[in-house]
Amino acid sequence: MSARNISEQIQKWVRPAVRALQAYHVPDPAGLVKLDAMENPYGWPAELTEQWLARLAQAELNRYPDPAAHELVARLRPAFAVPDDSALLLGNGSDELIQLIMMAVAGPGRCVLAAEPGFSMYRMIATFVGLDYHGVALNGEDFALDSDALLAAIERHQPAVVFLAYPNNPTGNLFTRAGMEAIIRAAPGLVVVDEAYHVFAGGATWMPQLPQYDNLLVLRTVSKMGLAGLRLGILCGAPGWLEEIDKLRLPYNINVLTQLSVAFALQHEAVFSRQAERICADREALQAALQEIAGLQVFPSRANFVLFRAPRGRAGELFAALKARKVLIKNLDGSHAMLHDCLRVTVGKAEENDAFLTALQAVL
Ligand SMILES: *Cc1c(COP(=O)(O)O)cnc(C)c1O
Repeated sequence: MSARNISEQIQKWVRPAVRALQAYHVPDPAGLVKLDAMENPYGWPAELTEQWLARLAQAELNRYPDPAAHELVARLRPAFAVPDDSALLLGNGSDELIQLIMMAVAGPGRCVLAAEPGFSMYRMIATFVGLDYHGVALNGEDFALDSDALLAAIERHQPAVVFLAYPNNPTGNLFTRAGMEAIIRAAPGLVVVDEAYHVFAGGATWMPQLPQYDNLLVLRTVSKMGLAGLRLGILCGAPGWLEEIDKLRLPYNINVLTQLSVAFALQHEAVFSRQAERICADREALQAALQEIAGLQVFPSRANFVLFRAPRGRAGELFAALKARKVLIKNLDGSHAMLHDCLRVTVGKAEENDAFLTALQAVL
C-alpha cells in the first residue's frame, strides 16, 4: 500500500464532482458560548428528564426499530397539523429527506433550483447525487424573493425540484406568500417549502395548503425546536409522491431511541412552545440591541438567529475577536457574494446573548 497508489486510484475512481467537494466543516465549540448552529439553548426540567429516562429504559435495543415509526407518526400528525389527506415521511434529519427527494429525481439533464443566499445543503446534496443546481439571487437589498427572476429561471431550466426555505436561512426572512404561490403554480416539478424554523415564525406555514397543490411538499425538523441531537426530519405531502421517495429510504433510518424520545417530547409540547416563545422574545431584544450599535446593518428575522452586516471588510476580524472572547457565531462573509461582510448569530439564553453583545461592542 502506498500513498501514491491510493491517490492514483482515487483520481481514477472517485467522481470529479466528489473530489472537488470540501468536507462540511464544523468548528470545535469546546469552552465557547455556542451561537453558531441555531440550536435551542435550553434543556428539560429535571422531572421530565427522569420520565424520559424511564421510557428509554424500556427500549428494546436488540430489536430493529419500527421501520414505519407508527407511534411517532401518529403523534407527529396532530402535533404538526398535517392535513388528513397528506402523508408523512421521516428522515434522519431533514437533510436526509432533502437527499431522498433529490435521489428520486436525479438523472441526466435534471436540475434543482433554489433561492440564494439560502441553505447550503441544497447545492451540496445536488452535487452528491449528480443533479445540476441553479441558485437564483434574492433581492440584494432585503433578501426578498425576486419572483420574476425565479419564474424566468423556472421557465428556462425546467427544474425537477425548487427549494424555498420559509423562513429562509441564513437571511431569516419570510418570503411573500404571493411570490411563493406564483412559483408553486409555475414549477413543472416539485416545490419543497422547508420550514425548519417554523416554531419561531409566528405561525407562518404552508402546511394547510398541501391539499391545494399537487406539487407542494412541506419539510419540517425537530432540530431547531430543541431536539437537534435526535436527528428527525418530517416530509409532508401527497401520498403518491411520498411513496416514491420512501422507496429510496434505507430501512430503519429512524433509530429506536429517536422514535421513543421524540414521541415522548411531543407529549410535553408545552415545554417546547414555552422555550420557543422565550427565544422569540429574546430574538426581538437581540435585534433591537444590534440595531443600536453604530455601523451594523441588521436584517429582520422570523427565525432563531439574526443576520447582520459588519462594517466593510471587518467580518473576519470580528468573528475571530469574538471567538477569542469565547463567543462562537457564524461568519458568512465569502460564502455568497450577497453575504459580503455578513455574520449570523443564533439566539441563545439571555446571558449568552448579553455575552455576545458585550464582546461585540468591545471588539468594535
Ligand atoms: C437547519 C436546517 C435544516 C436541517 O435540519 P436537520 O433536520 O437538522 O437536518 C434544513 N433546512 C434548513 C433551512 C435549515 O436551516
